[in-house]
Amino acid sequence: TDRRIVAGNWKMNTTPSEGSVLAQGVIDKVAAPVGKVIFGVPAIQLVKIKQLTAAAEGYYVAAQNMHQKADGAFTGEMSAAMLADARIDYVILGHSERRQYSGEDDTLINAKIVAALDAGIIPIYCCGEKLDIRESNNQNVVVGKQIEQALSALSPKQMAKVVVAYEPVWAIGTGKTASPQQAQEMHAFIRQMISDQFGSEIANGISILYGGSVKAANAEELFGMADVDGGLVGGASLDAQAFADIIKAGQ
Ligand code: 13P
Repeated sequence: TDRRIVAGNWKMNTTPSEGSVLAQGVIDKVAAPVGKVIFGVPAIQLVKIKQLTAAAEGYYVAAQNMHQKADGAFTGEMSAAMLADARIDYVILGHSERRQYSGEDDTLINAKIVAALDAGIIPIYCCGEKLDIRESNNQNVVVGKQIEQALSALSPKQMAKVVVAYEPVWAIGTGKTASPQQAQEMHAFIRQMISDQFGSEIANGISILYGGSVKAANAEELFGMADVDGGLVGGASLDAQAFADIIKAGQ
């Protein structure tokens, strides 16, 4: 299987008008990309960007969050069934910004992952350690625990569908990238954990993306590592040319 994915996470950036220009700009620059390209867009743009990507081979759309419950009195929230009905392909879950600002933990994130999978939406599960953890060399303990709590209760069939994004918090929006070796070490550790529980066939089929200050200038080296299957890109995904260059670096 081709594990290659380059995903953009626009976060709370771009109006609907700007977002459509951005997505179409990328599509025009890289026709029929090798591997998959995903736009992670604000909720209000999901339907429109899905229209654009549906007409472009290799392009997909992701929500940036989703509620774990099927429906009900949860003002401001969006369910898996709503995303599925709008034919949204992926949902980013467990991003460090949602952990930090919205108090999400891996028990909640696990519930969201299960709800997404039940609805046929592919979760992009984000994990990663903070700076103090990296400095004390405890990153495998912390990320291992995240993976364990969020993913270990899944069935093999469910696990086979999940995309994992390793995003060290100290590298997000800081301009500080993990070195290719640091990324490779963590990705190999994550794949080994998945292999130990779910078997090597599932582990070898799963895409593990790196996120944290990915740019055109460092993408090729990062994506060249054996267990780095692509990237989850924040800031640099907001510029059509920069994102197109990152997509090309993964080909
Ligand atoms: P930056 O690429 O801006 O560091 O953001 C990474 C990220 O959080 C993607 O989800």
